[in-house]
Amino acid sequence: MVHIRKLEIFGFKSFGYKNTIVNFEQGLVAISGANGSGKSNILDAISFSLGENSPKIMRVDKLRSLLHDVDNAKHGAKIARVSCHFDNSDRRIPVDSNTVTITREMDENGENIYYLNQKKVLRNHVLDILEVANCGIHKLNIVQQGTITRISEFNAEERRKIIEDIIGLAYFDEKKIESLKQ
Ligand code: ATP
Ligand code: MG
Repeated sequence: MVHIRKLEIFGFKSFGYKNTIVNFEQGLVAISGANGSGKSNILDAISFSLGENSPKIMRVDKLRSLLHDVDNAKHGAKIARVSCHFDNSDRRIPVDSNTVTITREMDENGENIYYLNQKKVLRNHVLDILEVANCGIHKLNIVQQGTITRISEFNAEERRKIIEDIIGLAYFDEKKIESLKQ
């Protein structure tokens, strides 16, 4: 089964200017640590690397707030880089390699570059291949702190939307809107 093997985080939120490597085992992984120590930032880093563009989902006011910033210290040009390494032994991600690495870099101007196995690609390409393997950002694959409580309080319309998102309809709705615009 496709799963995340490793995450590399650089200059993203509380992760500073050295590559932090987080290794994951297949199956259930628990991350423990003191309040404010960066547990949820690891999940935000995964969302970021896979193309998430909603500041709210990554718990910031604007995307630039994702760049590591401690007391406005000067470290030269700020850049955030996160690489997510998937185990693709079963080839469910349509890329012919055992490991699929998605990297996203964002600079101070808000410019983003995506790489698939170290080769530059468009964000849409990343979204499409992950969608095929059911591991994209549109699948409620990442359930943020407090979301379960919120879902239980949703009205019928909101609940319908979330079910559509899970079964993938929302993704195709977005594609339809995009293609109608062109
Ligand atoms: P809790 O147990 O309360 O859920 P947590 O371990 O999930 O905590 P996070 O929310 O991941 O903690 O991390 C919060 C920390 O990240 C805060 O200390 C905050 O200052 C820091 N942080 C967020 N954005 C940045 C940034 N751009 N630069 C530096 N630090 C940041
Ligand atoms: Mg948290």
